[in-house]
Amino acid sequence: MIEQEIKAITAELPKDVKLVAVSKFHPEEAIMEAYEAGQRIFGESHVQELQRKHEHLPKDIEWHFIGHLQTNKVKYLAPYVSLIHAVDSPRLLAEISKQGERCGRRIPCLLQLHVAQEETKFGFLPEEADEFLREGDWREMKGAQIKGIMCMASLTDNEVQVAQEFERAQRFFTHARDTYFKDDPDFCECSWGMSDDYKIALRHGTTMVRIGSKIFGQRQY
Ligand SMILES: *Cc1c(COP(=O)(O)O)cnc(C)c1O
Repeated sequence: MIEQEIKAITAELPKDVKLVAVSKFHPEEAIMEAYEAGQRIFGESHVQELQRKHEHLPKDIEWHFIGHLQTNKVKYLAPYVSLIHAVDSPRLLAEISKQGERCGRRIPCLLQLHVAQEETKFGFLPEEADEFLREGDWREMKGAQIKGIMCMASLTDNEVQVAQEFERAQRFFTHARDTYFKDDPDFCECSWGMSDDYKIALRHGTTMVRIGSKIFGQRQY
C-alpha cells in the first residue's frame, strides 16, 4: 500500500519536483516501507518525534522539518536537519543561523509565507517577507541559507481559492528571486502542495510537495 502510493505519486511528479513523504505520527515501520520503495526525503513536524526517528532509522534519510519550530528547540535539529521549511520570523532564522554556525553548517531554510485565509496559520505576510529581505540582516547570518519559499493553502474544497493562494506564493517567489537573490542560484525551492492539493500546486510552480495521508493513511492522534 505505502509502496504503491510512493511509486504512483513519484511517477506523477515532473522530474524536477521532489516528494517529501510526511511521516509525522506514523511509526518507524511505515517509514521503512517507504524507504524500501526508494523514498529518501521524509518530513516531520515534532522535534522529539524526529529526534527518535533520526536516531533509529537509516542515516541516508534526508529529514525535513515542516512544522512550526520553536527557537529553543533549533539546537536539537541543527546537527542533521536537511531543510527547515517553515521559518516564520526573523528571530527563528537568527537562531537557526547561530546553531548552524555552532555545528559548522549552513542550514538550508525556506521562508514560510502566509497566503491562506485562516487566521491561525503561521508565516510572513508577503509585505513582511519583502521588508525582511529588503532590510538584509539575513545576509550576515552565516549559519542559515534561505533556499526558497514555503506556504500552506487554506483548508477548503474551493480549488480556485487554493490556486490563487499558490499563485500568490509563486509571484512572491519570483519577485524575491529577481530582487534579492539575483546572484544566488540556490534560491530555487517552492514548497507547496499536500495530499489534497498537490495537483493544483504542480500547476503553480511547486518544486517540493509535502504528502502525508495519501501515502501513509490517516494519522493517529
Ligand atoms: C501534515 C502536514 C503536511 C501533510 O499533510 P497531508 O494532508 O497529510 O498530506 C504537509 N505540510 C505540513 C506543514 C504539514 O504539517
